[in-house]
This record gives sequence, structure tokens and C-alpha cells, in this order.
Amino acid sequence: MRRYSFARLVWQALRGNTGWQPAWRDSKLQNHYDVIIIGGGGHGLATAYYLATEYHVKNIAVLEKSWLGSGNTGRNTTNVRSDYMFPESCALYDLALKLYEKLAIDLNINIMLSQRGWMTLIHNQHQMESAYHKVNWMHCNELDGEIIDAAEVQRMLPAFNMSADARHPVLGAFLQRRGGTIRHDAVAWGYARAASGLGVDIVQHCEVVGFVKQGNRITAVETTRGTIGCQAVGVAVAGHSSVIANMAGFRLPVTSHCLQAMVSEPVRPVLNHVVLSPATGVYINQTQKGELVMGSILDLYQSYGQRGNFPAIEKTLTAVVEMFPMFAQTRLMRHWAGIVDVVPDSSPILGRTPIDNLYINCGWGTGGFKAIPAGGIVLAHSLATGQTHPLAEKFGLDRFRSNRLVDEGAAAGIAH
Ligand code: FAD
Repeated sequence: MRRYSFARLVWQALRGNTGWQPAWRDSKLQNHYDVIIIGGGGHGLATAYYLATEYHVKNIAVLEKSWLGSGNTGRNTTNVRSDYMFPESCALYDLALKLYEKLAIDLNINIMLSQRGWMTLIHNQHQMESAYHKVNWMHCNELDGEIIDAAEVQRMLPAFNMSADARHPVLGAFLQRRGGTIRHDAVAWGYARAASGLGVDIVQHCEVVGFVKQGNRITAVETTRGTIGCQAVGVAVAGHSSVIANMAGFRLPVTSHCLQAMVSEPVRPVLNHVVLSPATGVYINQTQKGELVMGSILDLYQSYGQRGNFPAIEKTLTAVVEMFPMFAQTRLMRHWAGIVDVVPDSSPILGRTPIDNLYINCGWGTGGFKAIPAGGIVLAHSLATGQTHPLAEKFGLDRFRSNRLVDEGAAAGIAH
């Protein structure tokens, strides 16, 4: 992979930055691929990368209906952590975090990993007991997590309103020190550049609109740019998973909801951790540039409308100012939404589908950015071997028939 020296950066700057090569090839569509991956978000691109590197599959295409990362991968609030409860969830999310910890080296791109600590506030005795319960589970699963008291919260968050008269007073917090933030675009671009360098065709503005089937197998994918033959299909389209499933002839227990986020003008560094209040569902972090990144829970009605609205701004900012009164004069700069794929047990759906050669990666809901490297590996495994990856066994679609749910609602209810 190409590395740039400081002298080269200066030379390019002096030339007005006109000499850079595109990060990935502008691929032409072939008539046939061994594997087609639908969705050019983080999970789809990571799948292509691991298929090429770990499973040595050649002849892969990623088809993206818009531009790369235009879905939730480029719209999320960049928080990463692995503080789940069940062993299968801990294994999956912590694999992702461990892969993220070395991804900058693997992909030769600065993903701006900042392990500044993920903090979930504790507002009452009930939440305190739940937090101890979760920490016990995490320790049983060999993950790091701890409870800190109110004095430590105040020390770590000097600008926080710790008044006993606050609407939601704070007794302490759950803390995962390895949690933090990562630049989302860099993850998509890094996987895309590396996959493209390995020969993967990345095709933007190519929407999948149907399938050609023979018996219970897909033989070709119909797109807005023609019909393309294939041996196997991987689906990683988040909020549009049930649309694709419908095209293929089966149903998913997924509902699509709008999730909103917003960012302020840059201000001086004052907030060095990611903070979530379960009482309001509102969370906040400050970027390295100084912007405050904020969001809250998803819109409760189902929708494919990728739009923000004023009630979400009001709800989020009211809670942020309650927590950090000094942000009251800060101006909001941007506000946006993504369409997330919500599953009844707040756990992903991974692996086989009722169609023999179509495999899925969906159901990450409001928290799938943190899982991208692991989601890519397990989908790549299914596509390459036709088998479910051991880490994905508990996350199969069949769990909704056998009623063996992995209910992470308590740990991941507000799963950013
Ligand atoms: P996406 O990134 O959405 O990619 C799917 C792609 O499929 C899209 O680019 C779409 O255009 C394409 N596509 C859809 N249909 C078709 C078709 N028919 N043909 C071709 N292409 C198609 N997660 C965290 O872990 N931490 C967070 O802090 C966090 N915050 C969030 C904040 C917001 C506001 C939102 C919206 C989400 C947040 N998430 C967070 C969730 C996270 O962003 C997603 O779970 C994750 O990005 C999903 O990645 P993906 O690759 O599966 O989907």
C-alpha cells in the first residue's frame, strides 16, 4: 500500500493538490462475480476486504446505490465500545474493538481512534444495581468495565452539573476506558482503498432492484446498471435490509427507524469522554476539532424518511444543557438522520437466510459502527465457506423461530 513522505505532502500542497491518485479504482461492472456484496457502508466494505485478505476470494464486487459511506456509516456519532452482557455479544463486539485498535496499521490510514472512555451515567439506585450486574457479566467475559462514584465523575467531567437539585442527579457512572470514538469516514475509505487495491470492484451509483433465481439460489442480481451474474450474495444494507429481503422472497423481523444526530460549532476542548445519560437517552462527545457531537434515542415511529426534525433537536439540546450548562450559548451547526434496522432483541442478524446462497448482516440498529470489523469478518466467512462463523452462531435468523433471543435491550437499549 502506498505511503506518503512529508516531502511528498509538501510537494503536493505546492502543486495545489492536483496530483493525488484516487483512493480506490473507478471500477467497470463485469458480467459475473463470484461474490456480490450489496451495500457500500462499513459492513459491506469490510466484508469485501476480509473476503480478499482472509479467505483469498477473487472476483468480488461491492454495489452501492449512492456514494460510499452515504448510509449510516457516514452519519453516525462515531462511538465505539464493547460493554455488552451476553458472552456471544461480548465476543463479537470485543473482537471488533480489538480489530479497530490495530486497524490504522492494517489499512494504513489514520482512523483517529481515541480511547477516551465511554461513560454511562447512573441516576438512581436501580441503575446502580443494573450497572453492577453488567460489570459482573463483563468481568466474567474477561472485558474491562468499572463503576466510578460521583466524585470521580465530577473529576473526569469538570463542566458537568453535579447539583443534587438537577432533574436527574448523578450517583456515579459505568465506565469502559477502552471505549471512545473513531472517525467514521476513515473506516469506510480505509476498507474501500484496501479492498480496491486487492482487486475488489467497488461500484457506486448502482442500486440493486431485484434478483434472478433458479430454484432456491440467486443466479444474478438486477441493478440499475444491468443484470450481473453471481455465485453468492452478501447483504449489508442496514435500514433497507427488509427491502432487499422482500426482493429475494423472505421476511425479516426488522423495522426501520430514523435516528438523528447533530453537531455544534467548534469550541475549546472541555469534554474528554463520551457521556450518555440513560435518563434522557442523550449522549455527547467532543471531536478533536472541538465540535460537540450529540444525539438521543431513535424516532419511535417506523420510517424510511432520512430527515431530522425539530422535536429531536429540542429534546437533545435540553438534556445537553442540563448536563453541561456552559454549552447553552453554543450554536448548532448541522443536524442529520440515518435509517437504522431495529430488531426485537437489539442484537444483529448474521449469516444464513432462507435463500441458499444469500447471506445477511443486519439488525445492528443504533449501534453497528462499533461492530464493523467483526461484522465484515463473519459475513466474509459465510460467503467464502457457506458456513456460519462460530462467533455468529447465536445470531442467526432462526433464533426468532426457536425463541432463543440474545436480548441485549438492557445493555444496548441506547446503543450508540
Ligand atoms: P450503512 O452504512 O447504512 O450502509 C448500507 C449501504 O447500503 C448504504 O450506503 C446504502 O446506500 C446501501 N444500499 C441500500 N439499499 C441498497 C440497494 N438496493 N442497492 C445498493 N445499495 C444499497 N453505531 C455505533 O456503533 N456508534 C455510534 O455512535 C452510532 N451512532 C449513530 C448515529 C446515527 C445518527 C445513526 C443513523 C447511526 C448510528 N450508529 C452508531 C449505527 C451505525 O451507524 C450503523 O449500525 C452502521 O453504520 C451500519 O453500517 P452498515 O454498513 O451496515 O450500513
